[in-house]
Amino acid sequence: MAGSFVGKLISPFSRAARAERTARQASERAQLRQTARKAGVPSVSVRDLSLSFGSVSALEHLDLDVADGEFLVLLGPSGCGKSTLLNCIAGLIDVTDGQILINGWNVTWEQPKDRNIGMVFQSYALYPQMTVRRNLSFGLRSARVPADEIKKRIARTAEILQIEPLLDRKPSQLSGGQRQRVAIGRALVRDVDVFLFDEPLSNLDAKLRSELRVEIKRLHQKLGNTMVYVTHDQIEAMTLADRIAVMKSGRIQQLGAPHEIYSRPINRFVAGFIGSPQMNFLSGELESGPPPALRAGELRIPLDRYAFDERGAAGGHCVLGVRPESVAIGADAAARPFSREVEIEIVEPMGAERLRSGAGLAVRRGDRRPPVMASGTDVSPPGGSLPATARPARTG
Ligand code: ATP
Repeated sequence: MAGSFVGKLISPFSRAARAERTARQASERAQLRQTARKAGVPSVSVRDLSLSFGSVSALEHLDLDVADGEFLVLLGPSGCGKSTLLNCIAGLIDVTDGQILINGWNVTWEQPKDRNIGMVFQSYALYPQMTVRRNLSFGLRSARVPADEIKKRIARTAEILQIEPLLDRKPSQLSGGQRQRVAIGRALVRDVDVFLFDEPLSNLDAKLRSELRVEIKRLHQKLGNTMVYVTHDQIEAMTLADRIAVMKSGRIQQLGAPHEIYSRPINRFVAGFIGSPQMNFLSGELESGPPPALRAGELRIPLDRYAFDERGAAGGHCVLGVRPESVAIGADAAARPFSREVEIEIVEPMGAERLRSGAGLAVRRGDRRPPVMASGTDVSPPGGSLPATARPARTG
């Protein structure tokens, strides 16, 4: 009798009860996700979010919706508030004002563990004394997930990330790339709704970074989970993102698909921040035409193919942004009606293309002549000069 009484007392903690509870919670979450998906509710919603650290305003009235299954990248210079926004979504920082919803559920004041998110940090944050297997299972064991289930999930995660041979090693016996893969595995094993990545590849060398970038992209294609990814590396942003949110001073400057942000930047900050090498800016006066043109000294660049949102007054100061690949040089430039000799100062061979910096396209302003970058396959050496001009705008 006593035995069965004790058995009843501890039954809520029994393996079977835990397994049942875990399955029930997973099913409830899946249902919530399904309902949200059907209703077209964003996976993550940030509403009028503001956050200050004392007198420092890190986020200002920020709104953002991340669609279900979307890969959204938060991109911006150091200090623009990307990590702070990610930490707010994760629940690691309390917001000053505003709301955060995950699958339509207001989690603004929920603990990080109750948000069903998985976070991957730049510093792998692995437990050094534990094997990879223990690192992967740690969160699940704390959540009292049954051992059989843990085993299954570790096997699946290890297979996806190809870390099966590493399971019994400790972090000190792994390379940086392998450690970061394990760190991703720790989020993956938890079967979360949303993955949050905070500059996960910054500690790796260039080769590993590009390898893991491809793996993360493949992972996203395979799993289809919502991912929010912080980086200041625009190549990472352009290659990974479905959409990029370009941030500056705690605000989103532009939110759009990579090609949209590249070809139709909303302001000069976005235009200058996106693109490597950087966009050239030519200052001059607007001529009404026809066709309308930018006049910079002797240089006249027709703008008839440029899709203006709003055209300034004739004679007004105007800055034209020209991507290096849109600077025509050599014979291509000479064949165009308006070109100018540009002195070649530096040539950087980049494999298929050569990047040139020269002076001369822009109007002299005091003693300063802003350099012009042009990319192409021309093989002329530095020291000489070439005709150059801007190709008419490409708007798509
Ligand atoms: P990085 O790429 O360098 O990590 P970031 O865009 O992620 O930069 P945040 O770390 O989000 O920038 O910081 C945004 C602003 O908030 C910065 O001005 C930063 O100095 C400030 N800040 C961040 N954390 C704190 C803190 N704990 N106390 C005071 N100010 C902070």
